[in-house]
Amino acid sequence: MKEKVCEICKRVGKGIFCEYHAKAYYNIIEQYKYWKEAYEELTWEEYLTKLIENPENGKWVKEVAKYLISKKMGRVVYDD
Ligand SMILES: [Zn+2]
Repeated sequence: MKEKVCEICKRVGKGIFCEYHAKAYYNIIEQYKYWKEAYEELTWEEYLTKLIENPENGKWVKEVAKYLISKKMGRVVYDD
């Protein structure tokens, strides 16, 4: 089977992201629920922008957020 590489860092992974970026992606999705409650109106793009601007966020999270914005990838794709 052909190995897949992470769309962001080109490390070998199982899906479109490597394990580090996949973990960051998962956290981003999880946190969005709480942020939406706190901000009442917060779009996915606004949320991602805030993540990038927040100095407390790690580089993995910021890289994933930037990638999602650049690809205009929505949470909807992975919604259950
Ligand atoms: Zn990666």
